[in-house]
Amino acid sequence: MTGSYDMTLHVKGEGADLTRRRVLAWLALAAGTSAASCLVPRAPETTPRVRGARLPAALRVRVNGRVREVPIEAYVLGTTLAEVSPVGEAPAAAERILEVQTILARTYAAAHLGRHASEGFDLCDTTHCQVYQPDRIRTSRFTAITERVIERTHGTVIVFNGRPIDALFHADCGGKTAAAADVWQGTPVPYLIGGPDVAPDAHRHWQFTTSLAALGQAVDADSRSRVGRLTAVAVAGRDASGRARDVELRGARTRVVRGVDFRAIADASLGERALLSTRFTIARQGSAVTFTGTGYGHGVGLCQLGAAIRARRGDSPAMILGAYYPGTSLMRADETEHQVVEP
Ligand SMILES: [Zn+2]
Ligand SMILES: [Zn+2]
Repeated sequence: MTGSYDMTLHVKGEGADLTRRRVLAWLALAAGTSAASCLVPRAPETTPRVRGARLPAALRVRVNGRVREVPIEAYVLGTTLAEVSPVGEAPAAAERILEVQTILARTYAAAHLGRHASEGFDLCDTTHCQVYQPDRIRTSRFTAITERVIERTHGTVIVFNGRPIDALFHADCGGKTAAAADVWQGTPVPYLIGGPDVAPDAHRHWQFTTSLAALGQAVDADSRSRVGRLTAVAVAGRDASGRARDVELRGARTRVVRGVDFRAIADASLGERALLSTRFTIARQGSAVTFTGTGYGHGVGLCQLGAAIRARRGDSPAMILGAYYPGTSLMRADETEHQVVEP
């Protein structure tokens, strides 16, 4: 298994839990800011074609346990509608937000084609790959606008060195996005380096208080963090984005765990909305432990909240994607036949 495989598991695992949060975030965003509307020039017909980005005419997707042949752009449609719902946005901003998401969905498909080749298909319909919900095409109010976007920009993927990128994204970076290598270790990814986002004050602030005993039970429930009767917890090191890269746990023994693991372990016991991110500080008052943080999600790649703010002020989808994946470009992928190994 490669590092990028693990990273994808993280981002996709988070995606499902975030869907409702996202809708709320869109609503909050829409209420707080006036939409700047302007026409963004786009020229998809002049987008160069790329050979390295394999994009078949159809994918084999396992939907509710059955393998179906799905045309690539129908897959992009059913995935985009499952991932975003820009409720309350002005039409021009909603269109840019949806275009960004269609490109993310297509790039994921191009980068992870044949992920389930040993089982006889390309991608599954769950958070393991990307959530694909064809029923949304019938029920979503954004179907028509997304179809128009796809018609105009079909085949477009994000590439780096001629290959489709690992287009990681999250709900809210808290003001600064993180480098993939800081969050999950491994080889640095040149286009996932992190940096300051727009409108840091518009990002989510959160607080979570629990007891030391409950937190102790949570960390003792996982072999990666078991210390035996937790007595102290502290951030042991931060990355450049301000996230807790390491967390020190003291009990019968002392251990240091990765921030991303600590969050997953805490959330598994204390609830999926306990620690919304690793961008937190820890304060202790008697037996109470309070985490005060910003953002929601792992913080790597595109921040959906920042992308929406950029879309609202009139940034084009290409500008938005370039801001979160520096050094990458948009290209039209060749539509080539793709052979899937039969079981
Ligand atoms: Zn899968
Ligand atoms: Zn952000």
